[in-house]
Amino acid sequence: MNLILLGAPGSGKGTQAKFLAEHYKIKKIVVGDILREEVKNNTPLGKVVSEYMNKGVLVPDNIIIKVIQEKLNSSGFILDGFPRNLVQAKMLEEILKEKALSLDRVIYLKVNEEKAVERLSGRRVCKNCGAIYHIVNMPPQKEGICDKCGEKLMIRDDDREETVKKRWQVFRRETSSLIDHYLKDSKLLEVDANKSKEEVFSEIKKALNSYGKDKDSSGN
Ligand code: AMP
Repeated sequence: MNLILLGAPGSGKGTQAKFLAEHYKIKKIVVGDILREEVKNNTPLGKVVSEYMNKGVLVPDNIIIKVIQEKLNSSGFILDGFPRNLVQAKMLEEILKEKALSLDRVIYLKVNEEKAVERLSGRRVCKNCGAIYHIVNMPPQKEGICDKCGEKLMIRDDDREETVKKRWQVFRRETSSLIDHYLKDSKLLEVDANKSKEEVFSEIKKALNSYGKDKDSSGN
């Protein structure tokens, strides 16, 4: 199963990508995480992309395409955070064609801005292992400390209020056009992402199932 997860900042893409990857045993390709790792390691690529990321704007398409080309090698994937505009969507189509791969579904996590801002302002991340928490909805056992690796939790640089506003503007201006694009293709599944993470995941599975794509024989 080859999927795209589409949604505004705070729609829960990261959480649902993790659930989907575990449940369907597919590889998740999380572009934001790949870029953050480059920034953390202070690589040449990391130095270039950090400026864009800190401003909450998109990294240039030619840089992102190289990342995707490298990571997308076989069937059984979920793309989180890519494509982010129509140019990237067209480039993805070319990459898939070249590699004889195809896209099954695009899951659109539809969230309202208020809900998303509430999620982002309470989000805490572990820069060491990438685990994600929320101070109210998903707190760690010990305040400020990662349950998995014991490192200190941080606020993502681009979760500051001003940057969140900017990221939403970018979503409206550049990414939301993808909804129509995939609707025309009949590939889009829209899910109400204002609900709890468990409810959202259950809706996603139901939606995939109704298209005959849920390969979970237990029916969960
Ligand atoms: P995310 O974790 O998906 O919210 O992405 C964080 C930041 O990484 C974005 O605000 C962009 O600066 C950058 N980024 C992630 N994915 C892409 C993409 N497909 N195209 C351009 N920039 C991206």
